[in-house]
Amino acid sequence: MSELLLNHLAGRAQAGTGSGTALLDPVLGTELARVDATGLDLAAGFAFAREKAGPALRALTYAQRGALLAAIVQVLQANRDRYYEISTANSGTVKNDTAVDVDGGIYTLATYAKLGESLGERRHLLDGEAVRLGKDGAFQSQHLLVPTRGVALFINAFNFPSWGLWEKAGPALLSGVPVIVKPATATAWLTQRMVQDVVEAGILPAGALSVVCGSSAGLLDQLQPFDVVSFTGSADTAAIIRSHPAIARGSVRVNIEADSINSALLLPGETPGSEAFELLAKEAAREMTQKAGQKCTAIRRIFVPEALYGAAAEAIAARLAKTTVGNPRNEGVRMGSLVSRAQLFAVREGLATLKQHAQVLHEGAAHALVDADAAVACCLGPTLLGARDPDHTPAVHDTEVFGPVATLMPYRDAAHALALVRRGQGSLVCSIYGSDAAALGAAALELADSHGRVHVVSPEVAATHTGHGNVMPQSLHGGPGRAGGGEELGGARALNFYHRRAAVQAATAVLSTLA
Ligand code: NAP
Repeated sequence: MSELLLNHLAGRAQAGTGSGTALLDPVLGTELARVDATGLDLAAGFAFAREKAGPALRALTYAQRGALLAAIVQVLQANRDRYYEISTANSGTVKNDTAVDVDGGIYTLATYAKLGESLGERRHLLDGEAVRLGKDGAFQSQHLLVPTRGVALFINAFNFPSWGLWEKAGPALLSGVPVIVKPATATAWLTQRMVQDVVEAGILPAGALSVVCGSSAGLLDQLQPFDVVSFTGSADTAAIIRSHPAIARGSVRVNIEADSINSALLLPGETPGSEAFELLAKEAAREMTQKAGQKCTAIRRIFVPEALYGAAAEAIAARLAKTTVGNPRNEGVRMGSLVSRAQLFAVREGLATLKQHAQVLHEGAAHALVDADAAVACCLGPTLLGARDPDHTPAVHDTEVFGPVATLMPYRDAAHALALVRRGQGSLVCSIYGSDAAALGAAALELADSHGRVHVVSPEVAATHTGHGNVMPQSLHGGPGRAGGGEELGGARALNFYHRRAAVQAATAVLSTLA
């Protein structure tokens, strides 16, 4: 039998008492390791984090906690090669896609380490200036942000076992809040290994970083009023979490990052082959194939002016045709596999639904697999669909196929395009392509209320823009409505979730001691 991975809870390594769930190589079909959370004393684990690790973290200043994050970065850098191997084996990712997860996670953590340094030797933050409450100004109100005295529980999705951990743990640990992460089972190995390496390096106070692998059963029951939950995954699971009695009763703060039908929009005024046109085609093909389309931020809908529909279909399809698909260990392969059979079947099912409403512009199933057995490997080529009548094709605005799939659609004029983008009912990101600064700015403003991030690509940033789907720690990640209504990252804004805001009303002399 394969190795049973250990949980780390209550400051010690703990094996589950069950036989465990197997983690598989999605390309070779072989068993890699097992995870199991049976028999863990979750109540004791949460209490240990709350009562031992929390006070130890909060005794440190932001600068000191930032230094701990920097030390974690060193540990992760030192073990990077091993993480690449685990990602290839358990997530089926090619090197460039592993980098998005592993190096993206390390970079995000390093960004929060630096933020800690800049916040300095303090243990709470001021929120704005003091405001006078009385006529003479002797009595004032000062808002403060203080770390919450609970635990941060992360329930994560399968697509970013590294980045998904560190983009949340960076802000939480910097805020002085201990972390318990439950990775998605299919790809739990990388998260487990990273936590284990950091715990064994002895950087953090005992119990400040815990990992529970396997079933989520019982985790939410442990939550108390000052705990916080950050969830990334499907809208269905999000609904279960929101309505959990412990969360509803204790007003436990919850952040949800759910599915999202993100868009790319080419503004009017472009021609086939213009720089903005090419930038859209390049980004659409890249987003469809990076991580085999298993990114919450990936482009799912592509909008172009009616007259450019045919040219855009050709330009994107030509790029997709060049994508080699198969075993990520083969240097010639550009796109690896989906993470599991379950995911492969879900993508095929979603594609079958969309194909009832759309034409196929590029067929992914026609891609021959490189170095992989189609009967075993969870590999699937990229498929571009086209929907000529997007007003009357609700499925393309509602159905998230979490794989290498996107739908191209024509629009009549700018107002029509903006209305179609908004049919996603709230998304993580929209990218807009064009060369007229005023028109780009106006479209960004129109789409800002329904998106967490608007990514504008014009020729002058062709070489420097950070990518439609690439989440930068300096910018907000999250989206309203269907996307879950959450907010993560955005530089120092991320700390708000792990702090409580309070107003202290007092004499000026008292308030000056808080500054
Ligand atoms: P999922 O089934 O909702 O699972 C997500 C996490 O929730 C996993 O850790 C899962 O554990 C856990 N879980 C499942 N049922 C639960 C329950 N009843 N109580 C508590 N936890 C539970 O989602 P998925 O299919 O793995 O992920 C794909 C989806 O995530 C896509 O829709 C994608 O759009 C979304 N996503 C969003 C973002 C974002 O930032 N907005 C990022 C990535 C993915 P197990 O694995 O053990 O079942």
